Amino acid sequence: MSLQLENVTKRFGDFTAVDQLNLSIEQGTMYGFLGANGAGKTTTFRMILGLLNANEGKITWNQKRISYATSPEIGYLPEERGLYPKMKVAEQLIFLGQLRGMSKSASKRAASEWLEKMEVSHYETKKVEELSKGNQQKIQVIASLMHQPKLLILDEPFSGLDPVNVEMLKNAILEFRNNGATILFSSHRMDHVEELCEQLSIIHQGKQVVSGSLREVKRSFGRQNVRIHSEYDLASLASIEGVTNVQQSIEGAIYQVETEEVAHELLATALQLGPIRHFAIEEPSLQDIFIEKVGNVHA
Ligand code: ATP
Repeated sequence: MSLQLENVTKRFGDFTAVDQLNLSIEQGTMYGFLGANGAGKTTTFRMILGLLNANEGKITWNQKRISYATSPEIGYLPEERGLYPKMKVAEQLIFLGQLRGMSKSASKRAASEWLEKMEVSHYETKKVEELSKGNQQKIQVIASLMHQPKLLILDEPFSGLDPVNVEMLKNAILEFRNNGATILFSSHRMDHVEELCEQLSIIHQGKQVVSGSLREVKRSFGRQNVRIHSEYDLASLASIEGVTNVQQSIEGAIYQVETEEVAHELLATALQLGPIRHFAIEEPSLQDIFIEKVGNVHA
């Protein structure tokens, strides 16, 4: 059971939005799909769902072609949020559940369970337009997964949610994954992706530039971060060969280095300048990797 994309390309006129993309997502995986604005994420999702046709390549779910319109196995939270503003929350969910193939009674039960789980039961009889943006989003997330899809595609599920709701949604989708679903989501929040995803891809101008498990991605990046906190002026450390970036933070400066030898040279040089309070070699964050791989997009 898996989702496979083989050499998938999408062109809009002369412009190539997705370029020979390959993805292989095993069942039960939480997969992060990252890229700058305009990288091609939503276009890829739409092709997977059969809402857009690829110009080239092949997309299969369990060796078969899929279509959101005909397959209740799929759940989708689109980037453009859209519920019926005048319809009441519970009525709307029951209706949408039925559209995804549920019986009325099953849909009623699922709507009520999910409203409770997401702590929005008290809005059941309110019209959607009376809810805040974040709460509307929670309702739309429920609509995407209440029919228990096996493949759930979430386009920016965390955008617009406050930190408490982000945690609630994280827990809900983790539970969903633990019950066997395959989840593919896009996000601009690297910390969420680090926390949730077993596998990820970064795409840049329609092409995949990074892919693998979080561990593999970090290891293959090679560079590490060195954090040094000292009361002394360490400005000269920035010019040591192999230091590729320096950031100041309250807990000291963070030097991005090419190899571990450079980290040791930094330590030795810092100690010559005076005693240090803190020294640590840390793995790169996904944010570091993302910025390095796609950050020059506007250059
Ligand atoms: P964001 O993070 O901003 O949502 P994205 O990665 O989802 O971005 P897409 O929406 O997939 O990006 O768009 C990829 C590129 O394809 C963009 O340059 C966009 O302008 C272009 N594009 C998308 N849909 C169409 C369309 N229907 N016609 C022409 N160009 C399009």
